[in-house]
Amino acid sequence: MPLAARRLPTEFASLAPLEAWTRTRTSPRPERLEAGVETLPGVGPKLRAQLGKLGLRTLRDLLEYRPRDYQRAVGETRIADLFGDGEVVIAGDVLGASLRPTRRRTTVLRAAVADESGTITAVWFNQPWLADKLRPGTRVRLRGQLRRGDFAVKSFDLEGGAATADLAPIYPASEHVSVARLRDLVAQALPLARDLGDGLPAALKARSRLAQRADALLALHRPGAPEEAEEGRRRLAFDELLVLQLGLLRLGREREGASAPALPAPGELAARYRAGLPFRLTTDQERVMGEIDTDLARPVPMQRLLQGDVGSGKTVVALYALLRAVEAGRRGALMAPTETLAEQHFLTLEERCRELGVSCALLTGSATRAQRLEAERASIVVGTHALIQESVELSDLAVAVVDEQHRFGVEQRRALAARHSPHVLHMTATPIPRTLALTVYGDLQVSEITLLPASRKPIVTAWVTPERSGEAYRRLRRHLDDGRQAYVVCPLIEESETTLARAAEAEAERLRLGELRDYRVGLLHGRLRPQDRRELMGRFKAGAIDVLVATTVIEVGVDVPNATIMIVQEADRFGLAQLHQLRGRVGRGAEQSYCLLVSRGRDELTDAARERLEALVRTTDGFELAEADLELRGEGQLLGTRQAGLSELRFTRLRADRELLERARAAAASLLDHEGPLLDEVERLFGGREVGA
Ligand code: ADP
Ligand code: MG
Repeated sequence: MPLAARRLPTEFASLAPLEAWTRTRTSPRPERLEAGVETLPGVGPKLRAQLGKLGLRTLRDLLEYRPRDYQRAVGETRIADLFGDGEVVIAGDVLGASLRPTRRRTTVLRAAVADESGTITAVWFNQPWLADKLRPGTRVRLRGQLRRGDFAVKSFDLEGGAATADLAPIYPASEHVSVARLRDLVAQALPLARDLGDGLPAALKARSRLAQRADALLALHRPGAPEEAEEGRRRLAFDELLVLQLGLLRLGREREGASAPALPAPGELAARYRAGLPFRLTTDQERVMGEIDTDLARPVPMQRLLQGDVGSGKTVVALYALLRAVEAGRRGALMAPTETLAEQHFLTLEERCRELGVSCALLTGSATRAQRLEAERASIVVGTHALIQESVELSDLAVAVVDEQHRFGVEQRRALAARHSPHVLHMTATPIPRTLALTVYGDLQVSEITLLPASRKPIVTAWVTPERSGEAYRRLRRHLDDGRQAYVVCPLIEESETTLARAAEAEAERLRLGELRDYRVGLLHGRLRPQDRRELMGRFKAGAIDVLVATTVIEVGVDVPNATIMIVQEADRFGLAQLHQLRGRVGRGAEQSYCLLVSRGRDELTDAARERLEALVRTTDGFELAEADLELRGEGQLLGTRQAGLSELRFTRLRADRELLERARAAAASLLDHEGPLLDEVERLFGGREVGA
């Protein structure tokens, strides 16, 4: 039988010595925390609405409201010694208080406060609700400033521990709800912290050095020291990561229940493919292929994410996976987010497939009936995600490669898995730090290619101002004269694909008449008809075009090892990840390659733009750049809005909490495996939150 919870009358809650209730062991009653904020004294409809705007609707919301910072400690001063300006802390007893409205509808609350050395008038502005609490005899600790002989209070602590005035939480406030008000409201909710329950097995907490949940909340709002606040945050971060990971693991396990064709061991076609490659696979590529073989041999759908930097050789691995389906008498599909990308992938795959005698077809929206029929018969079909799902009978599809390109989210992953159960290999061309990958793709196995092919020389990147762009073009022409090829990337225009195309046309024309007068210039943009685009890319690949002037459509998929130099115009307009992708179009062969970023001078750029360009010049390592991007843009934005899961994370600091995330992941797995009842407890504790989608 659960003991009856010892309930403090709410109006006294914030005055109760914290020790008293922290020691009381009662059964958790989480439903009490679901009470609305209006159940607190002094919270009327208006304040309720204003709190709602801050996302504070229930007592639990208050309890879990994360301070954005803390005010640092100041030592206590005797009242008799108060002198001059500056912030000080005093402690004493209230002798009496009075509340006065002023003109302009503000209020001033005055209280006489005395310690053993003297008395002073403490003044609060616009905090009338405090009047009732400053009863004679109440012990207070105040932090504030001397102002014309009065003591203007900035933060305070009534009766309870000395913590608040020393390390006062600063809550995200609004125009209508002050930090002081929030402090008071949170203080009122705080005694209910134990009612939330803890939810985690003691052994797990011990192993991961995690505080009790109630203690964590207490430490969050009333830390005695910054380390305490951090400890509290860690526990709360763990909880939310655990829930997220549970959701993702569930998604993964759901799929475990699905069946997929178990493929026999690699055979003749796979061997021929390997033997025919004009290079030696890197050990990373070999390892990932091995991982894929293991996955394909199981009768459950593979769900693997292949992370690797631009040009690290992912496509080579992806085609291997597709061919494994083909040699088992099944089919493979490569799905790209856009038609342009699909076409580019197709151009790469088609060539190899032809050599191997494997039929490969492109499926686009503009496909004729004949082309469609061809695609439906082909062993390997390349198209957009949507097209392939809609129009191809996929019953005999054994392997699907999904080129994510940051454009597909959890939902798409779910949809693909739900309708058919092929083995799925997700490829992402902008590697994200493993921590993030685990958070966002926690339902997937993650494979990484970190080694670039040995023959590869790191691309040399230089940042030049427009005055020196003449030099950049001279350099580019030198490459062309040596028989190499080049890219010129047009400025990014934040308008439609059509304006972008028009601007690119103008730029190509300008270059044809100017800097690139004596060379064969092709123009690639998103408004070209598919067959024209294919033809153009084919000619560039074949060396019939020297320079490709292009919009960002060349960002991915274009693979011409003979292209060794790229000029990016107005490079400061592009994002870091985008520039990295663009740059990845060169440096794909054994030759030394160059990327020349043209932008306005340092002084004319924003800090962020300057840092982006500096990062690109400094390193070609995609993982390092992803970290830099994270720093520049903040965690939530890195992956765009689709990562709903990330914005849910309130306490987690992804970079700092790497280890914690791994622990949460392990704990989630062990909970799913062994602790059914505990799982219920965890779910109840964090109840009703939508997770992982
Ligand atoms: P990604 O898809 O990761 O961008 P790709 O698979 O398209 O990389 O490979 C980039 C280029 O490097 C291609 O021209 C490819 O033929 C070549 N390549 C791939 N793996 C190797 C390797 N092990 N050694 C040398 N070149 C390689
Ligand atoms: Mg590729």
